[in-house]
Amino acid sequence: MSGTKQIIEQTERYGANNYLPLPIVISKAAGVWVQDPEGNRYMDMLSAYSALNQGHRHPKIIRALKEQADRVTLTSRAFHNDRLGEFYEKIVAVTGKNMVLPMNTGAEAVETAIKAVRRWAYQVKQVPENQAEIIVCEGNFHGRTITVTSFSSEAEYRRGFGPFTPGFKIIPYGDVEALKQAITPYTAAFLVEPIQGEAGIIIPPDGYLREVRRICDEHGVLFVADEIQTGFGRTGKMFACDWEEVKPDIYIMGKALGGGVFPISAVAANQDVLGVFEPGSHGSTFGGNPLGCACAIAALEVIAEEKLVERSLRLGQYLMSKLHELKNPKIKEIRGKGLFIGIELTEPARPYCEALKEKGLLCKETHEHTIRLAPPLIITKEEVDWAFERLKDVLQP
Ligand code: PLP
Repeated sequence: MSGTKQIIEQTERYGANNYLPLPIVISKAAGVWVQDPEGNRYMDMLSAYSALNQGHRHPKIIRALKEQADRVTLTSRAFHNDRLGEFYEKIVAVTGKNMVLPMNTGAEAVETAIKAVRRWAYQVKQVPENQAEIIVCEGNFHGRTITVTSFSSEAEYRRGFGPFTPGFKIIPYGDVEALKQAITPYTAAFLVEPIQGEAGIIIPPDGYLREVRRICDEHGVLFVADEIQTGFGRTGKMFACDWEEVKPDIYIMGKALGGGVFPISAVAANQDVLGVFEPGSHGSTFGGNPLGCACAIAALEVIAEEKLVERSLRLGQYLMSKLHELKNPKIKEIRGKGLFIGIELTEPARPYCEALKEKGLLCKETHEHTIRLAPPLIITKEEVDWAFERLKDVLQP
């Protein structure tokens, strides 16, 4: 097998240049640990942007994958498969909603929710055709398709990709007054991340989500929560909306739903909203495939059986309290919920991530100044201590 240098050269020779990875090749992984071709071990503190909440190659999920692969992998939705109903039941149990639509990636699930709320606006709310508006927040990240990029507030995500999809209004995040002001009789939905991940782990003011729920109810606007990154225990609750005991009208889920093994995403809502779809109105060849469903069923069971939500809360509080001991004037703020923690610096975070990599800890900066810490939720207290020692070496030299 080739070494790190050759592999990176080969990858960079043919790959489109849309990522800037740290110079490390991961060729093996288990739990919170990964290994490069030379046999160096690192702890994964990124978890593939929270898609690996159950850890790398969780044995139960891998077993489910293998067993399903030996039976049937893909049927398309032209036929039924014997895992989809079971998958739906799990999603219904976890969200409390009574209808589910499966897709593959996060961005596709966001697109699905947008289609659902637009149709709901015309069919149920009686908004005049083509006038439906969706309110979103500054700093949002909901994926990379053209429509989703259309309402990004990041110039670099949009540059050169127009013309864009109309029908979106951007308001400041965490600002309930701005939401009230932005709503018109044509507003279909408010689409929001309960904690903004890619923006740098931005936590809205206490009570924000509850107020959003109240305002949406008052104005007949659907509250759509993008829990793709924050869901499934990442923030110390099953969903980040649970922090304020709030139920959105639509949950958008992805990432850890597939246990880091298979891409699977879903939208869950009640029948009065998701019921707007009828045969032919939406779909995906791979959406709801039995292999993805088998992985997701196992992934959800692992979260429950191993009490990963509680573990995230407990170890998140523990890590946070240790991080607050660090003394460095370059640390501007440490914030987070559960094992979803951002260390914002007064200078670029990239060199810190490179230094952490040299010490065996893999982190990735987000929004230039913030180090994001989001380890697999199966991490042990001893492993958290191990990670903290490396963070201390780099952040408090
Ligand atoms: N929504 C949120 C909140 C995300 O964090 C992400 C990915 O980081 C997405 C949507 C897009 O998911 P995907 O990359 O699977 O399309």
